[in-house]
Amino acid sequence: MPVDALQGVGPTLKRRLGKLGLERVGDLLDFRPRRYEQPVPQRRIADLFGEEEAVIEGVVRSVSSRRRGRLTILTAGVGDGTGEIRATWFNQPWLEAKLAAGTRVRLRGRLNRYGFAVESYDLGDVAATADFAPVYPATEDLAQKTLRDLTEKALAHARDGGEPLPAALLARRGLPFRADAYRALHRPRSLAEAEVGRRRLAFDELLVLQLALARRASEREADVAEALPPPGELVARYRTALPFTLTEHQERALAEIDADLARTTPMQRLLQGDVGSGKTVVALYALLRAVEAGRQGALMAPTETLAEQHFLTIEGLCTELGVRCVLLTSSLAARAHGLARQLIASGDAQIAVGTHALIQREVEFRDLAVAVVDEQHRFGVAQRSALAERRAPHVLHMTATPIPRTLALTVYGDLSVTEISKPPASRKPVVTGWIPEERSSEAYTRLTRLLREGRQAYVVCPLIAESETTAARAATVEAERLRGAELQGFRVGCLHGKLRPAERREVMAAFKAGELDVLVATTVIEVGVDVPNATVMIVQEADRFGLAQLHQLRGRVGRGAEQSYCLLVSRAKDELTETAQARLQALVDTSDGFELADVDLDLRGGGQLLGARQSGLSDLRFARITRDRKLLEAAREAARELDGEGLLAPLVDTLLGDADHLGHS
Ligand code: ADP
Ligand code: MG
Repeated sequence: MPVDALQGVGPTLKRRLGKLGLERVGDLLDFRPRRYEQPVPQRRIADLFGEEEAVIEGVVRSVSSRRRGRLTILTAGVGDGTGEIRATWFNQPWLEAKLAAGTRVRLRGRLNRYGFAVESYDLGDVAATADFAPVYPATEDLAQKTLRDLTEKALAHARDGGEPLPAALLARRGLPFRADAYRALHRPRSLAEAEVGRRRLAFDELLVLQLALARRASEREADVAEALPPPGELVARYRTALPFTLTEHQERALAEIDADLARTTPMQRLLQGDVGSGKTVVALYALLRAVEAGRQGALMAPTETLAEQHFLTIEGLCTELGVRCVLLTSSLAARAHGLARQLIASGDAQIAVGTHALIQREVEFRDLAVAVVDEQHRFGVAQRSALAERRAPHVLHMTATPIPRTLALTVYGDLSVTEISKPPASRKPVVTGWIPEERSSEAYTRLTRLLREGRQAYVVCPLIAESETTAARAATVEAERLRGAELQGFRVGCLHGKLRPAERREVMAAFKAGELDVLVATTVIEVGVDVPNATVMIVQEADRFGLAQLHQLRGRVGRGAEQSYCLLVSRAKDELTETAQARLQALVDTSDGFELADVDLDLRGGGQLLGARQSGLSDLRFARITRDRKLLEAAREAARELDGEGLLAPLVDTLLGDADHLGHS
C-alpha cells in the first residue's frame, strides 16, 4: 500500500516522505524512532512555575492568531479548572481550525513570558505526546508531529501483513506478535515496552538474514567439486621443511580443511585469525594439497603489494619442495605476463599468486582445485562464475579482520568458520605505548637503541586523506628528514604506493635481508609485510587512524621471538576527540584483535563495521549487532527449526535481490 493511500497524504507530503525512503505504509511501520521523549511531570495550570518542562491537560476556551513578519503565532486560551493559560504555537496556522472552543488538549511545553510555549500536543483522546512519544529522524520539511500522525495511521494497517511466525515459536521466545511490536515501537507506554517491540522486529530481521544465508548455502550444495585424495607425500615434506612446529590451532585448521577437501561439495571456509597468527602457513598447505593431487592452486590478494608479499613468502618454500609457483601482476611486462598466463593455462605453474581482479579476469587455469582468497569479504559473483564454469574449486577465505565470532556468523553465515585465535607460543605480546607529540623524541630514543642492538624498525607516516601521491610525497620527505635528524647514521628506506613494483620489491627485499635498518612507510605496509627482525614501530599522528587499521599496522611487529614495541605518537590528549582517545587507549590496553573489534563496534556502531556494507549488515534497522548476540543465536536456531520460509520468503527475496553477493562473500 503506497503512503498516499493514507488519509491526508497528498502529492507534496508523498514527495517529502519519499525523501526519507518512506514510500509504502509498511515503510512507515518500519520507521524506527531515534529515541523517545522522556516523560515529564503533569501539572495543574495553577502549579506551573519557572521554565520546567511539563504536561498540562485542559479544554480550549478561545483561539486566535496573528502574524509577525513571516511568523504566524497561534494562541489558545486553555483552562483546567485550576486556572487558564495562553498556549502558543508558531507557524502552524492550520491548527487554528482544529482548536475549536471545547476541544480537549494535552500539551507538553514550558512557561515563557508569553504564556505556555507548546512543544508537542495531542487533541481529543489521543495521548501520544507527553510520555515516551517517538522522536523520528525528521527533516526540515517534515515535522515530528506529521510523522507521529502518519505512523499512528499506519498502525491501523499493522495487521494487514499477517503474522509471519508461528505462535508457538513466539511463545517459546517470549516475543510479541508483529503487529503488537509495531504498536509498542511507535506508541510505547514505557521504554521497556518499546524495547520489547524493537526486539521482535530485530528478531525478524536477523531471521530473514539467516534464512537468506541458508537459501544461498543450499543453492551452493548443488555445486560440485572434485574430492581430493587424502594428504600425501608433498604436504608431509612441507611440514618437515617448516622451521617450526604448527600450533594446535593451525593443526586444527589443517584437519578441517582436509575434511572439506575430501568432499564433493566445494569447500567454503573462512579462516579467521589475527595478524601474525600464522594463516599463511595454513593457506599454503591448502594450495599444496591441490598440487599433490596433480591439480592447481591460486592465491588471490587484494593488492599488488600483498600479492608480491605472499609470493615472496611462499616462493622460497615452494622451490624447496619442487613446486612451480608464478606471480601474476598487472605490472609485469607484456611478455612476462603472457608467459605467466601460459604457464598457468598449461598447468606448468602449479600455484599462481596474483590480485583477485587479475586472476578472475585474465587467467585460464588448466585445472584449478583450490583457491585461497585473502582479505576480501566479498567473493563477487563474476569472480565466482569465472572460477566455477567448469568444476567449482574449493575455496578458503582468509581474513585478519577480527570480527567477533557471532558477528562472523551473521556476515558469513553460510561459510564454515575456522578461527586461529592463539598466535604461536614463542610470541610475546607487543608492548604498546601512547606518547604525545612533544615527547616524540623519547620514541625515537627507544627506536635507535633497538636498532643498535641489531633490530629493525618501521616508521609509519601520517595518514593523508588527499591521495596516494600526496601520501607518497610526504613519506619521501619524512624519510629524508629522519635521515638527517633522529635517524642519522642508520640506513633508512622508504616504501609507498607510488613506487614502481620493481622498486617496491627491491626495497622490501633489502629490508628483509637486513640491508635497511628502518622502513619509513605509508599504510602500504598494513598487510602482509613479514619481517620477524623488525621489532619496533612508530606510528606518527596515530589519532588519525582507525582502530582496525592501527591494529593491522601493529601486526607488522611482534612476529619473532624478540619483545616488540609499538609507539603511537599523537597530539596532546586533551586535543583529541573522546573516541580518538578511546581508540588509542584500547590499543594500549589490549592486543587481542577480537576484543578490539568489539571496542571498534561500540565506538562506531555496527553498520560501519569493516566490510559491513557489502554484507547486508547495514540493512539492519532494528538489530544491534553487538548487543543482540543472544537474539542472533535465537534467530539462527529458529531458521533451522522453521518449516520453510513461509511469509518471510518475499523478504528473503528482497534481501537477496538487493544484496545478491550474500553468501558469495
Ligand atoms: P598471518 O598471515 O596470520 O598474519 P603469518 O602466516 O604471516 O601470519 O605468520 C606470521 C609469522 O609467524 C611468520 O613469520 C610465520 O613464519 C610465523 N609462524 C607461523 N606459524 C608459526 C608457528 N607455528 N610457530 C612459529 N612461528 C610461526
Ligand atoms: Mg599474512
